[in-house]
Amino acid sequence: MTVAEKQRLINYPEHLLYMRSYEELLEKALSELPEEVVRRERFEIPKVSVLREGSRTIVKNFSQIAKAVNRSEEHLYKYLVKSLGTAGFLESGRLTLQGKFSEDEVQKEIESYVKDYVLCKECGAPDTTLVREERILFLKCMACGAKHPVRPF
Ligand SMILES: [Zn+2]
Repeated sequence: MTVAEKQRLINYPEHLLYMRSYEELLEKALSELPEEVVRRERFEIPKVSVLREGSRTIVKNFSQIAKAVNRSEEHLYKYLVKSLGTAGFLESGRLTLQGKFSEDEVQKEIESYVKDYVLCKECGAPDTTLVREERILFLKCMACGAKHPVRPF
């Protein structure tokens, strides 16, 4: 069971029975899939964990999130401060944001980031990289080879 799944069980213990059988079904379904699809299905954005310090919000697991979505902390950080319309700084794997933000608010922005700057627009695979060509930023897919321009920020 992943950390996120355990967290879900803690948050919603009434779903414990349902989750258990769902998990069994999922395991069975996954075992019948070819390797490539399995890898893709397991791509998961970690649950954002924040700490409020006065008028600041600290994303405690920022470095873990950047790693999981396969992007640099710097790139994800720039996106978040822009999309949340605030300022902030990075320090030893934690992101500090000016202002009060909920875990859901930050999570939503990270999901938008993943949709626009991580997942392939053609096949949905997360195995992509950002490449700059002729001053244009492209999202390039390692799985299917598709290349799409993305909006800089
Ligand atoms: Zn692709």
